[in-house]
Amino acid sequence: MGQEGQQGRVRGHRHTLAGMSHDDADAQPTVAPEEEVARICADLIRIDSSNYGDGSGPGERKAAEYVMAELAEVGLEGTLLESEPGRATVVVRLEGEDPSRPGLAVHGHLDVVPANATDWQVDPFAAEEHDGCIWGRGAVDMKDMDAMILANIRHFARTGTKPARDTTFAFFADEEAGGVLGSHWLVDHHPQWFEGVTEAVSEVGGYSVTVPTPQGQQRAYLLQTAEKGLAWLRLVAHGRAGHGSVPNDDNAIVRLAAAIGRIAAHEWPREYIASVRELLDTLSTMTGLSSADADLEPLLATLGGAQGFVRGTLRDTANVTMLDSGYKHNVIPQTATAAVDCRFLPGHEDQLMATIRELAGEHVEVEVVHHDVALEAPFSGDLVESMKQALLREDPGAAVLPYCLSGGTDNKALGLLGIQGYGFAPLRLPAELDFAPMFHGIDERVPVESLQFGARVLGDFLRTC
Ligand SMILES: [Zn+2]
Repeated sequence: MGQEGQQGRVRGHRHTLAGMSHDDADAQPTVAPEEEVARICADLIRIDSSNYGDGSGPGERKAAEYVMAELAEVGLEGTLLESEPGRATVVVRLEGEDPSRPGLAVHGHLDVVPANATDWQVDPFAAEEHDGCIWGRGAVDMKDMDAMILANIRHFARTGTKPARDTTFAFFADEEAGGVLGSHWLVDHHPQWFEGVTEAVSEVGGYSVTVPTPQGQQRAYLLQTAEKGLAWLRLVAHGRAGHGSVPNDDNAIVRLAAAIGRIAAHEWPREYIASVRELLDTLSTMTGLSSADADLEPLLATLGGAQGFVRGTLRDTANVTMLDSGYKHNVIPQTATAAVDCRFLPGHEDQLMATIRELAGEHVEVEVVHHDVALEAPFSGDLVESMKQALLREDPGAAVLPYCLSGGTDNKALGLLGIQGYGFAPLRLPAELDFAPMFHGIDERVPVESLQFGARVLGDFLRTC
């Protein structure tokens, strides 16, 4: 690791847009972000950047080159960095109106999870437009937000205007495999890109759900303020190898199966972290439904498809996801392994690991394959207020609620630099579109109008935050 792309450079290059001459600015036709956000989103979807997690995918290089070209077209020099050949991240920094203020990071990821084309109604990499939506892998996670970010950077460059604060824009590789070759690599090897940065915004927050209320319904934007941490564990059961015809009380597969059974049967205690409590209590006020522990189902149901993310944040979880053992029908193997995907609430990692070790039992080792931190940021302060106001200026009368994500984002890597991260990819969505289940789902699609709304809100936020 550690190679840089040809255009890679170690030192940050900060663009001073005010330094552009009027001729430069005049030479660029004025295109509002909302006018080109859909084109950019579609272009990015057509570049297959599937991340299989084992290095076998196409990588992000082509998508990164596309971003570089879009920047170059408006006179900006991005920096393309590769952690490994083909695994490319693009960074560009713009000077703010007030460079004395702490910096902001705005980031997206260029990779997508793979798509099994036969499951989809359309070609997942064609970016076809149907019913006012752009369809394709990444339309939701997260080439939509990448396009909103890029369209706004281009607008700053074309008009010679500035974001409110010095802003580092990053388009990361490898988010879908934990960011090892993307955000974590950049934070480890080139942290100077985030020098002076105190806060960040990125994906999986800022989208709307339509909540039934006694008066009818109300749109609510879910602003992501917290993330569960993750521990990807491997259970390794040991036993005595032998002939399949001979009784054996030390069968590794049986021991593994018993451990899995105990883990599956374990009831993780429910606990409400601050952001979850506030989400449920505010929803309760909006809907008139109870937010009491014993009576939560009707309230969760008001969130539609987004309730899955919220359900995942009511407690720690452990799901068995892979099994491996044995090589012949009449041979008892010596070992058996299972993969377990554990997600813990902020502050719960040690407790979760102790519980899993106890449930695994004495003949089953617990190995940590990958782990990453949980995050929790306050749902208050100037940045949160700026996000809220930017949403409410475009959608007066809506509610903005905090929530915790059951999954993870690149904000975890930036968190290692002390940067407080939020999920704010603003999208006003039609009530009937079940958006949240499309993250990593099939038939991913985003309404063009929602992209345009998001481009406006993000631009407003960047100018006023
Ligand atoms: Zn994502």
